[in-house]
Amino acid sequence: MFKALIIGGSLGGLAAAHEMRAVGADAAVYERSAGRMEARGAGIVMQPEVEALLVRLGMSAGSVSVELHERQQLHIHGRPARYAAPQLMTAWDTLYRALRDPLAGVCYRLDSALRRVGVEGFEVTAEFADGYTARGDFLVAADGIGSATRRLLDPAVRPGYAGDVAWRGLEPESALPEDLRDLLTDRFTFFVSP
Ligand SMILES: Cc1cc2nc3c(=O)[nH]c(=O)nc-3n(C[C@H](O)[C@H](O)[C@H](O)COP(=O)(O)OP(=O)(O)OC[C@H]3O[C@@H](n4cnc5c(N)ncnc54)[C@H](O)[C@@H]3O)c2cc1C
Repeated sequence: MFKALIIGGSLGGLAAAHEMRAVGADAAVYERSAGRMEARGAGIVMQPEVEALLVRLGMSAGSVSVELHERQQLHIHGRPARYAAPQLMTAWDTLYRALRDPLAGVCYRLDSALRRVGVEGFEVTAEFADGYTARGDFLVAADGIGSATRRLLDPAVRPGYAGDVAWRGLEPESALPEDLRDLLTDRFTFFVSP
């Protein structure tokens, strides 16, 4: 059977595992984290591709999302500018569980940091930090923005600063003052400054 090795077991890796299985391949996922995958970050906008994948897995996008109704742009001086923009928002842990649970019977190896990639004939090998070597027909690099696979395949490629800085913070909803909660609840909010 055609075997796909997937490096990285976060959302990209899990989505790739589903796509590979959908075309009849045997997928195995190798994730660097040693323990249970921990919650990462906050909201994720539900994208059409994710929605389509969830539907194929027998879930509706609405069952793993909350619906927002407006967008707003905050200004230091003056009132927020608001407009109607319905959209579904989900979260990393919710999506992780939704994509991970249907792969219960699939190889998902933790504590597997990729160290070397080799190609010989039609076979690809992935060697991990603990010495374990996996063999397959196809390798998917889903190991994130600092991809070790990309570095191994093309050491000359380096990430470059794109000119934007995004600040992201998490605060328990219950810890927010009421007026701030009223301002943010149910709205996708932007604040841009030079
Ligand atoms: C501010 C902000 C807002 C965002 N908003 C959205 C949004 O609205 N919608 C959206 O779709 N996305 C959004 N994203 C991006 C979202 O976080 C990513 O889409 C998603 O987490 C990327 O998943 P991934 O699996 O590609 O990468 P990651 O989640 O980065 O996962 C990479 C995985 O690879 C593993 N790994 C790394 N190196 C190795 C190695 N050597 N060997 C084995 N495993 C390895 C890591 O441990 C990790 O689990 C946002 C991100 C940010 C920062």
